Amino acid sequence: MSTATIGTNLTWHAGDVTREDRHQLLKQKGAIVWMTGLSAAGKSTIAVELEKLLLERHKHAYRLDGDNIRMGLNKNLGFSAEDRAENIRRIGEVAKLFADAGVIAITSFISPYRKDRDLVRAGSKPGDFIEVYVHVSLEGAEQRDPKGLYKKARAGQIKGFTGIDDPYEAPENPEILIETEKTSVREAAETILRYLEDRGYLNA
Ligand code: ADP
Repeated sequence: MSTATIGTNLTWHAGDVTREDRHQLLKQKGAIVWMTGLSAAGKSTIAVELEKLLLERHKHAYRLDGDNIRMGLNKNLGFSAEDRAENIRRIGEVAKLFADAGVIAITSFISPYRKDRDLVRAGSKPGDFIEVYVHVSLEGAEQRDPKGLYKKARAGQIKGFTGIDDPYEAPENPEILIETEKTSVREAAETILRYLEDRGYLNA
């Protein structure tokens, strides 16, 4: 699938409401909290906790979750390298719209390829993209295996499974590293929350 722009004669139509206007109104800055890590690392679980903590503080946050998006927007995409890239590109575009609207988008996708993640970062406004490496060892992930996917992949029933027979390219310089074999879900969510607080995303 080509991701080149097909439309011609396109002109960006700007509105009269600025990001600063939204920032003042919502008393927060939009951002993309981009969780990446192996399946079963804890991305979705931490995302749920973080979303709850933010809403408790009256901050607008919204989760974009791997399986949920694959059941809708990206239902026509599989797990080939090309489809994985297109999956991440579309999520990135949606997350950017959320951030632009002043919302904190929390994404939880394996997003195994560095190039795909870096493309989203490069296309985001400076400071909007916060990469969170949700780390678990492969052995730890296989022990958790909440959906039985590693077992299936080991048995050859799933091909191209990240960590087994498809690579995971770890972030080299993530804004936040969460080592889930050393911290609880709550601590992980609070670490991200503190990062947002300390850098002024949650104040007007
Ligand atoms: P992912 O979204 O990365 O595929 P999930 O959040 O769906 O992972 O699953 C992670 C599993 O690991 C859950 O069953 C969760 O309860 C468990 N788990 C155990 N310890 C942790 C931790 N410290 N952080 C996150 N998840 C953990």
